[in-house]
Amino acid sequence: MWWFQSPRIAFGEGALEVLKDLEGKKAFIVTDKVIRRLGFIAVVSKYLKEAGLHVGVFDGVRPEPSIENIQEGSKLLIEFAPDWIIGLGGGSCMDAAKAMWALYARPDVNLADISPTVELGLRKKAKLICIPTTSGTGSEASWVSVITDTKEHFKMELASREFYPDISIVDPKFPAEMPKELAANTAIDALTNAIESYVSRWRNDFSDALAIKAAQLIFTYLPRAYENKNDQEAKEKMHNAATIAGLAYSNSQVGVAHSLGHALGAVFELPHGLATGVFLPYSIEFGIKEAAERYAEISKAIGIEAESTEEAIAKLISAIRTLMKNIDMPTSIKEMGISREDYENKLEELVKKAEMSTCTFVNPRVPSNEELLKLFIHAFEGRAVDF
Ligand SMILES: [Zn+2]
Repeated sequence: MWWFQSPRIAFGEGALEVLKDLEGKKAFIVTDKVIRRLGFIAVVSKYLKEAGLHVGVFDGVRPEPSIENIQEGSKLLIEFAPDWIIGLGGGSCMDAAKAMWALYARPDVNLADISPTVELGLRKKAKLICIPTTSGTGSEASWVSVITDTKEHFKMELASREFYPDISIVDPKFPAEMPKELAANTAIDALTNAIESYVSRWRNDFSDALAIKAAQLIFTYLPRAYENKNDQEAKEKMHNAATIAGLAYSNSQVGVAHSLGHALGAVFELPHGLATGVFLPYSIEFGIKEAAERYAEISKAIGIEAESTEEAIAKLISAIRTLMKNIDMPTSIKEMGISREDYENKLEELVKKAEMSTCTFVNPRVPSNEELLKLFIHAFEGRAVDF
């Protein structure tokens, strides 16, 4: 047997207004300086105050937050003692809110020890609301919190069934203001989440439907959302797609593009979507041996016509590369400005980290260390994966 889990999700224009009806005494917003500068904290605080809540803020979340960063914020959170915690921002802010929430409920717990088998009792002191301001990671719909161990240059993939937010607010108001580069990075993450969920070893009927819908929305609306800042419909559809992809993968799993991406992102300090998205085409080429029919189904679902499974997959990969080029994303690692020498020096470390990622074991084709190494090399050069 299996569980399907989801937060309550308020979506669409005006969804933020649900904050006005929140019951409680104190809300603590976990966010970053960019969100402050954009004026989003003020918007959210205004609603919370209308609901009669006292509002506390930690705006010190760093990109790809570290253990130290979480400890810093959780001190303030514990002092403020809220009954609501609000993760406001991109994946980093929402993941940070989850981890700080864990330390608030269980100050005795070591972050690295959090896993689906550890009972945290998170809801005894506070509940969690996530408000994504980017359309990408799907953290607002997931049971995962990715925290960087900076000493080990390692991304810890903390997972707990209790991490699902109580409420997620998917309002297109905030992401409409994303800069183009951020919109591109996060959108490719959403696409990677959807595709990897659909082929994962843990896929199921529930996650399948969501993964396909997310992929369809992204292929249809991403070019429009990227090209035209004022295309509200496209922006809203992309925002929904990211959360739907989040629901898909957190009820199945992601795969090897995420293992490779987490390693690359931790070693070279890159944003998640950029580091992960670049591996998407290569991970499909690698997975064909075990999941050809599945990739062909995605291809058909996004409207590609083909005479054979091979043709359907080839066209899917080329559609992904075209989409990435259209939104100015690199399709190889050398295009990302990483020098060959630096990269070669880090190859051994990259492989070791990718091997340790939990995403590796649920990929349709589980790579050996030698294959991980080859994947890293091919993705650097932009060479097709033919092994
Ligand atoms: Zn992702």
